[in-house]
Formats: sequence, C-alpha cells, structure tokens
Amino acid sequence: MVCIVILGRQGSGKGTQSTLIEQKYGCLHVSTGDMLRSAVSARSELGIKAEALMLSGQLISNEIAVGIVAERLQHEDAIKATGVLLDGFPRNLEQAEALEALLAAEGRSITLAVNLEVPVEVAVERLLARGRSDDTEESIARRLKDYEIQTMPLLQWFEQRNLLFSVDGLGVVEDVFYRVASVIDDALDVACQQAAAHNKQTKRQSRC
Ligand code: AMP
Repeated sequence: MVCIVILGRQGSGKGTQSTLIEQKYGCLHVSTGDMLRSAVSARSELGIKAEALMLSGQLISNEIAVGIVAERLQHEDAIKATGVLLDGFPRNLEQAEALEALLAAEGRSITLAVNLEVPVEVAVERLLARGRSDDTEESIARRLKDYEIQTMPLLQWFEQRNLLFSVDGLGVVEDVFYRVASVIDDALDVACQQAAAHNKQTKRQSRC
C-alpha cells in the first residue's frame, strides 16, 4: 500500500491539493484536522477536549493525534485502500517516528512526502481570506510559528530517508497539481521498480 504524506505550512494549499491527489490516485484522504473538526461538531469526548486547543491554534497532544491516526488506519476502508494520503499528520518528529512504527508493524512504509512550499506572507493572506473559525490573526500566527518550530525539522527527517519531494506551491491550483502529480508519479515508478526487484529476489530465494 502506498502512503503519501503531504506537508506544508497552513495556507500552503494542502487541502486543495489533497482533494486532487485523492481523485487522481484513488487514495484515501486522512486529514487529522478534518477528523478533529468532525469530532468538535459531534461534541464527542475527543472533540470537547480538542476544541479549545484548536481555536487558539495549539496542537493537540501527540498521544491523541497518533491514536486517532492509528485507529483510522485500522478501519476496513483503510486496510483495503491501495493508497493513503496523510494530511496534517505527522506534525512533529515524535508523530513521524510513531507513524513509521505504526506502518512497519503492518509491513508498510512511507512512500513519499510532498512538501508544498509557499512563503509565510502568502500563507497568511490566504488564511485570512479563508476565514475559518480558527483563522484569527492570533491563532494563525501561533500555528505558523508552531510549524517553523515543530514541523520544519520533519523536512530533514524525510530528506534523510530520501522521501522528501518539495514542490513550488505558488500559482494556480492546476499548475501546482501538475508539479505535485509529477513528483508522485516519479516516486511511484521507483516504488514499483523496487517492489518488482524485491519480488524477483524473493522468488529467486524461494527457488533456491
Ligand atoms: P489543520 O486542519 O491541519 O490545520 O488542523 C487544525 C487543528 O487541528 C490544528 O491547529 C491543531 O489544533 C489540530 N491538529 C491537526 N492535526 C494535528 C496533529 N497531527 N497534531 C496535533 N494537532 C493537530
């Protein structure tokens, strides 16, 4: 199963590009932000716990974030899916390590991370224009700062594993998606070749 992670500061267009990736590649889109917003609307225990943190632009605990992703990946649709697209997760190194372990336990791994690059000023402009309830100036500033401190180190983490593909997130949606799809296609080609080589080797070994 393919596992794509989409990275980028808030306002980088992750949500829009995720929808297009989902449509083109038939991936299951797993967005921790969407799951948390649904929990808030449903007034579930999780939603009540997360609401104040989300409104003030703070991250929920790693334990909860990892827990909801782990649970989501156990659903039948996720098990059957040929690919999963993770959006908003991992947000920091601890979550990335947890994800790696979670996938490894199922014999899976991260296929690639697409990093949408958009300058801070553009991201702020887009967020203010979007006007979601947690898009106040104060909350935006906090989330963007968190991103620099907690999420930027993740870029290196993915790079060290040769999984990082950065894409210019400026321009019209279709142009950005063309770039995104190109890096995904390339990475999937490599993943297929590796899988084929691995199968060949396994066959060869089993024949010996
Ligand atoms: P997003 O839609 O990804 O911007 O997420 C909205 C809010 O949900 C964030 O500001 C956090 O409060 C919370 N959140 C989403 N994903 C995570 C995560 N992986 N770890 C911690 N908090 C998260």
